[in-house]
This record gives sequence, C-alpha cells and structure tokens, in this order.
Amino acid sequence: MSDAVLALKGIAKSYLKGMPGEVRVLSGLDLTVKRGEVVALVAPSGAGKSTLLHIAGLLDTADAGTVTISGREMTGLSDRARTEVRRGEVGFVYQFHHLLPEFSALENIVLPQLANAVPKATAEARARELLTRVGIAARADHRPAELSGGEQQRVAFCRALANGPKLLLADEPTGNLDPATADQVFAALMELVRDTGLSALIATHNLELAARMDRVLHLDNGVLA
Ligand code: ADP
Repeated sequence: MSDAVLALKGIAKSYLKGMPGEVRVLSGLDLTVKRGEVVALVAPSGAGKSTLLHIAGLLDTADAGTVTISGREMTGLSDRARTEVRRGEVGFVYQFHHLLPEFSALENIVLPQLANAVPKATAEARARELLTRVGIAARADHRPAELSGGEQQRVAFCRALANGPKLLLADEPTGNLDPATADQVFAALMELVRDTGLSALIATHNLELAARMDRVLHLDNGVLA
C-alpha cells in the first residue's frame, strides 16, 4: 500500500443521522488511488460523489472508516493539521470555477501559494508557468468574468495545482461546458496531471471521458462496484 496516495477504508456517511429522514450515502466504502493513477468516479446524481470527494479531501468527516493520504492516516488529526494537509497535498476542482471575481487569473493562482508561505516572485513565476501549460498565458491579467467557461476552468486547474499537491480531487470538472469545450479542457487537465505525475480522482457523468482515465469506479448504493 506504500504507493497509495489516497486510501479510504470502510467509509460510512449518513446525513440527518438518527432522524426519520436519515439519508445513508456511503456504507463501508473502500477505495485506493495509486501514485500517478487517474481514477474516474462515475455515479448518477445524488449517489454521493460529492460526499465522497469531500471526505477524501478532508472537507468533511466520515461517521466511520479511515482516510489515509500519502501514507498518513488522517483520523484523529487536529483541524489545524487537516487544514495543512489539505492546503499542501490536495488540490480541488469543482464544476463551477469558484475563482475570486475581483482578482486576475494570475492572482487567483498566486493567492493560495501566498497562503502557503511561498514568496510572491516564486508564486507568480509558477502561476505563469501553469497558465502557459494550459495554453492561456496571454489571459494572465484577465479577471474571471472576461474569460470563457473553458478558460475559467483551465485557471481553476492551475489554482488547484498551485501548491504542487500529490492528489487532485475533481467534481464534474467539465460538467458545465459544452461537449467540444469539455473535451479540450479535459485533455488539458489530463496533460497537466500526467506531466506532474499527480494522482487524481475525477467524478464525471461523462462515460466517454471516464474511459480515458486509468480506471473507472461506479458508485452504487453507497459502495463501489
Ligand atoms: P452527488 O455528488 O453524487 O450528486 P451528494 O454527495 O451531493 O451526491 O449527495 C448524496 C445524497 O446525500 C443526496 O441524496 C443528497 O440529497 C444527500 N445530502 C447531501 N448533503 C446533505 C446534507 N448536508 N444534509 C442532508 N442530505 C444531504
């Protein structure tokens, strides 16, 4: 298991626990993502993909089970330690870009690095390099509202990778784009992931995109089929 970047074991999660409307979302789920592996997570809406990604990325806690990131078990860590791991080792991408509207593309990629104590000049150089890799260096000074949907997502990918995480968690990263743009943006994401040797867990509805990943997992009834 030493080459597992993410290992989930026996993860259970319910909402409204103990109440009449209790929703059991995950029931003893096991999942491993190896170093350099890109895994697709396919499930219908409401099956618990976001819940699973939030637990894997330490944004939420499970009722039972363990989360291990880069060989380190997260259960029982303080909030501060969890935040540190999340900031340094995990990158997130969502269906909507969630970029800060009052800042430029470059600044949106610089800010998380400053929060991680990276010097400004280094952070800017890294941001430019990432923007170049996804083909939108010329857009560095544009604000999100001045970018197309596909460009916004490319910036969101760069932001997720700004601090050199080991694990990328993505929740329908191209779900908000038209099919042709989704295809190109997904290709840019895959290239970035492969170039950096990153491991990724990518939730998608799109079976054609899922088939381009290393492995496809189906979430069904709270466990992986
Ligand atoms: P997906 O990402 O696959 O669409 P989610 O993980 O968002 O699914 O949600 C899984 C199930 O849990 C859904 O039935 C949803 O309604 C329910 N759910 C999610 N968050 C909450 C919450 N905070 N309180 C109650 N139910 C929730």
